[in-house]
Amino acid sequence: MSDQCDALLERLELFLDGECASDAEQVIEQHLQDCPPCLHRADFERRLRELVATKCRDSAPAGLVDGIMSRLQLS
Ligand SMILES: [Zn+2]
Repeated sequence: MSDQCDALLERLELFLDGECASDAEQVIEQHLQDCPPCLHRADFERRLRELVATKCRDSAPAGLVDGIMSRLQLS
């Protein structure tokens, strides 16, 4: 994993929240196009957020988020 990847992952949360400056956002999008592992990670984080949002509205099965978190650590 490169320094660029580390920098991206640090900002990923802001990026997914849409709180990145637009120039930073472009750098991240560019990196995601060139770096499948980071793209995979970004997709995963995005889906995790959707699930958490769903969990807040309805009630997801217990352990769902834990299961996702442990898969995240394996990837
Ligand atoms: Zn990367």
